[in-house]
Amino acid sequence: MKGDVKDMKALVKYGEAEGAYELREIEVPKPRESEVLIQIKATAICGTDIQLLSGKYIGRKPVPIPIVSGHEGTGIITDIGKDVKGFKVGDRVVFEPLKGCGHCLDCKLGNKNMCYNWEHLGITCDGTFAEYIVVSQDVVHLLPENVSFQNASCLEPIGLTVRSLEHLNPVLGERAVIIGPGKIGLFHLQALKASGVTEIFVIGLDRDKKRFEIAEKLGASVIINGSKEDPIKRVMDLTKGRGVDLVVETAHSPKCFSMAIDLAGPKARISTFGLYPEATIAPLSIIRKGLTICGDVALLTRHFLRAIRWVEINKVLAEPVITKSFSLAQSEEAIRVFKEGSEGAIIFEN
Ligand SMILES: [Zn+2]
Ligand SMILES: [Zn+2]
Repeated sequence: MKGDVKDMKALVKYGEAEGAYELREIEVPKPRESEVLIQIKATAICGTDIQLLSGKYIGRKPVPIPIVSGHEGTGIITDIGKDVKGFKVGDRVVFEPLKGCGHCLDCKLGNKNMCYNWEHLGITCDGTFAEYIVVSQDVVHLLPENVSFQNASCLEPIGLTVRSLEHLNPVLGERAVIIGPGKIGLFHLQALKASGVTEIFVIGLDRDKKRFEIAEKLGASVIINGSKEDPIKRVMDLTKGRGVDLVVETAHSPKCFSMAIDLAGPKARISTFGLYPEATIAPLSIIRKGLTICGDVALLTRHFLRAIRWVEINKVLAEPVITKSFSLAQSEEAIRVFKEGSEGAIIFEN
């Protein structure tokens, strides 16, 4: 405390260079008229945050420096601007990381995730790896009473899963493959199962041992270790050579994009999350099999609200997927563990 200015801990990226970030004491932000101040209770670490901290994130615009990273979070309102309606101090809330400009064609078409002038927590403005955050009331939602802060910490990636399932459109009795048993893969596993997909094959590597155990508990039909066997041969054996109806590609390896196409059966839908700039694919197989391949970024309010519902009704939960929890003071250790790439979800709790 300096006078009446309160300080807080925050993980700040202070330069362009790799590793130019540190835990700092900075001023607690003040909410403007239509903003709320939230004390962060839990915030999950996402690949994007690590890319940004490592100076490897390529966004639509340069990342402002300094910036507090992190974009998946939940907490308690501790102050509100004078024009805020529908929220009060003490409310348990969660917030969407993305806000569109509201004026451009894409915002007006209902696709704020395509807005060129979007604001995104932890990418264009200060994010969640701090004790407090200020956000616009437009993106804040009340947390149902039965939803824990741990479960709410991952509502953004669960919202991405909602968006992905909108594209995949699973039908009762279909079969699916999930490539990559990280948190996005494990949220898909829960959502596809709850949607009536009867067989779900999960593909990973040796280092995914812990993630395989979670996938097994969450009801994966078959676990396929790509370090030990050929995943394409195995899936073809399991489906009598036809392939599956749904493929979720969440592994960050360019090889996996062509693998997704090889695993897909006739009229399959493929949802892709791997953020690599290039991969080689054969258009012929897309055409011959009549495939639909979907990509997208971030999420819309309807996806976020549906994600809250999924957690509220205990169908898709973060708690079974969270394998490590750290304090902000342990951020160095948390980032090191994240980079090893063998945990489920990793969160900070305050
Ligand atoms: Zn994220
Ligand atoms: Zn816009």
